[in-house]
Amino acid sequence: MAKIGFIGLGNMGGPMAANLVKAGHEVSGFDLSKDSLKLAADNGVEVCQSPIEAARAQDVVITMLPAGQHVLSVYGQILSEADKGTLMIDCSTIDVESAKQAHKHAQDYDMLSIDAPVSGGVGGAQAGTLTFMAGGTSEAFEKAEEILEPMAGRKVHCGDDGAGQAAKICNNMILGISMIGVCEAFALGEKLGLSHQALFDVASNSSGQCWSLTTYCPVPGPVATSPANNEYRPGFAVDLMLKDLRLAQEAAQKVSAQTHLGAHAAQIYGLLSDLGEGGKDFSAVIEMLRKSEKA
Ligand code: NAD
Repeated sequence: MAKIGFIGLGNMGGPMAANLVKAGHEVSGFDLSKDSLKLAADNGVEVCQSPIEAARAQDVVITMLPAGQHVLSVYGQILSEADKGTLMIDCSTIDVESAKQAHKHAQDYDMLSIDAPVSGGVGGAQAGTLTFMAGGTSEAFEKAEEILEPMAGRKVHCGDDGAGQAAKICNNMILGISMIGVCEAFALGEKLGLSHQALFDVASNSSGQCWSLTTYCPVPGPVATSPANNEYRPGFAVDLMLKDLRLAQEAAQKVSAQTHLGAHAAQIYGLLSDLGEGGKDFSAVIEMLRKSEKA
């Protein structure tokens, strides 16, 4: 069993650390929030007073933080204090550039590292069924696999440094765009007098089939477990989708990629967020489409 430092014990990191404890690992954790630390302690995590304390004398250090600046700041504090053989795993969703810089800093200290953002949300973090998308060397990935196992449904080695973050934002750009497409189709169908069930029965068995339709159907009824049946409680919140779409736009601009629909999708979720709906599930975009003539 490994000694693991876990920094960032929020909605995702908290249950991920708890699953590592359940698997028998010795987990020391740090978070800026006292509430998160208390919850982590209840789940068997040994609480530390600083990121440095959590990172010292560990086999592995995992970070699960809001954005690139937090990851780079924490790496700046801990890398010189951690043991040379420590494996660094960053599971946060951050921009590709910061992810590459984080790898570079780890390499400066002769440490193996992977970027390993996740999909599956808080439910997946609790159930230990997250999909990990990893970037880094094969050596680092192979070493990380065993550690990720109690938190994972699936682990995919996507390529070199930053490839995990690239896969995450590309996947979520597909998702963000496809949800708007499905919402537009249902909003149009309503105006044409088509029942939700009829459109679902046709599209879910035809070429319009996609995850946004069959798993997260944005109208109540056809898919019992979709957030639409639960007043659009997330699920996957609008603001998290917006964050990922903005990361995709930032990356696209850096490499001059054409992402017209990705840019428009970011704009549409941005409007929804500005309306104060950022905490709702992203399928709630249908409510805004129904109200407005043009987004
Ligand atoms: P969260 O805000 O619940 O947790 C982040 C935690 O980091 C907070 O507890 C905060 O106190 C802590 N933190 C911030 N700066 C810190 C620092 N310098 N040192 C120590 N702790 C610090 O967010 P979350 O939902 O757990 O998301 C974490 C990451 O996972 C984000 O990058 C997010 O985009 C990604 N993600 C979230 C979801 C989701 O459904 N929530 C799904 C996939 C990926």
